Amino acid sequence: MSDLVVTEFMNDNKKNIKNILIITLSIIMGILIVISISFYFINKYFHIQKTNSQNTGTIRFDYMSSIITEFEEQHKSMKLTKDSTPLSDEQYNNIISIYSSSPEKTVYLTFDDGPSNNITPLILDLLKQEQIRATFFVLGTNVNYHPEIVQRAYNEGHYIANHGFTHRYAEIYENTETILNDYLQCNQALKKALNNENYESKIYRYPGGSTGGRFHDTKAAGKKLLKENHIAYLDWNALTCDAEGTPTKESIIENLHKTVGDKQVVVLLMHDSSSKILTYETLPEVIAFFREKGYSFKNLYDVL
Ligand SMILES: [Zn+2]
Repeated sequence: MSDLVVTEFMNDNKKNIKNILIITLSIIMGILIVISISFYFINKYFHIQKTNSQNTGTIRFDYMSSIITEFEEQHKSMKLTKDSTPLSDEQYNNIISIYSSSPEKTVYLTFDDGPSNNITPLILDLLKQEQIRATFFVLGTNVNYHPEIVQRAYNEGHYIANHGFTHRYAEIYENTETILNDYLQCNQALKKALNNENYESKIYRYPGGSTGGRFHDTKAAGKKLLKENHIAYLDWNALTCDAEGTPTKESIIENLHKTVGDKQVVVLLMHDSSSKILTYETLPEVIAFFREKGYSFKNLYDVL
């Protein structure tokens, strides 16, 4: 092979390599451009999707919260009207005949003698967790000590009923007027605590119960005077005896079982005064007992 032929061959080879490099680079550049464009569009698409879902979410949230606020406002104003209206004859009868008024198994948890600043908030926490609305028969003296706890119980949907002011039997049951006065004094304390001059607690629980004992006759006569003043009274038909003697967890549960028996409607008496830690500690078991037996939990708002 002559020198000329060899030189031509080498020149051709160089050209080919150069062409191959140019083509390869072009392909790589092309691929990079395609990838970049794809990324741009994918990114843009997801951004639109995200914005859309955020917008829809916000719109839906605003819409729902406006409905909820409206519902709460309506509920609040209905409750305020209810709280400020004197008891009608029909409502009076509903309370008096509470044990025969429900076709389904119903339990009304009631707590007397509070509020206390150590036990009542614990009970409120538990009721909130269990989504149960109860009834608190408060004592006027304790309402004056802890108005903020009464407010909390009220705001959380519990019925704030009336257990009088002093709990001193000899003073309360001196005559029918002193019974009414006991109610009115507690009611006055509630108006102040709830910051509502029109609040009417409407339902009185006689300290020690509405029957029996040496004041039986005065208590009976007092019922007539209370009715004339649009005030009903309510005792209980089951109790844990958490305020009698020295209760234990076992005795509380035993009394619960014994006194509830097979009753269709139960008004359960318990206490939330400052020494009633056992009432709080056994409450989960009390609630579980009623749930297992198929009772639904109600408070006095459901009766009025
Ligand atoms: Zn009491």
